[in-house]
Amino acid sequence: MEREPPSLARARAAMVRDQLERRGICSPAVLECMGRVPRHLFVDESLIQHAYQDGPLPIGHGQTISQPYMVALMTEALDLKPEDRVLEIGCGCGYQSAVLAGLCSRVYAVERVPQLFDRARGNLMRLGIRNVSLRLGDGTLGWPDEAPFEAVLAAAYSRDVPEGLRNSLAFGGRLVMPVGDSEGQLLVSFSRGADGKVSRRTLVACRFVPLLRDPKPTAR
Ligand code: SAH
Repeated sequence: MEREPPSLARARAAMVRDQLERRGICSPAVLECMGRVPRHLFVDESLIQHAYQDGPLPIGHGQTISQPYMVALMTEALDLKPEDRVLEIGCGCGYQSAVLAGLCSRVYAVERVPQLFDRARGNLMRLGIRNVSLRLGDGTLGWPDEAPFEAVLAAAYSRDVPEGLRNSLAFGGRLVMPVGDSEGQLLVSFSRGADGKVSRRTLVACRFVPLLRDPKPTAR
């Protein structure tokens, strides 16, 4: 991989310190991983200098790469173990996938916009990340052939957890997603106990794009 300019390495270190640690992200694994993944390689060239700023950025098609803090908070809430398999819905440009891939055994990422799916694939290949399986289609249906997953993450909001995702969660697993409507959402972490019972914990108020359910998922 090409060497990165020192200014970007410094900006990334500052992001970890000022946006993540200062706000209470404390998992050493999450902090280390986000200190390593080159977020600037996931955004448009014209936005590279803004890649480590404290907010979301446009990635085209009306979608955004989430704010670094949101990525950290969702990832930390999944409490990943190295052997876990993660289902990720709405991988966009693939940044969140790359972070998850550094912390678990395999990521199964679904994206519904073909151009973003291609972009995620290109970005992950360029970085030599090989433990992400990508699928183009409607993620609300889950990935039944590979279920259940120890962790499920959706980066787009819905009024309720779609049944396909609920059913994808292993006993003892965690699911994190924004729940709400266009007026506002709450980031919610669901845990499914060993007995199958689901408990819910609200993390923070947030703003995400909607989880769109395709009447006919695009297939290629
Ligand atoms: N975490 C991503 C950004 C996610 S933005 C990143 O790091 O870039 C939310 C993404 O969810 C968008 O790319 C959008 O196209 C996708 N999306 C919305 N509804 C979806 C669905 N039903 N299935 C799969 N992807 C979906």
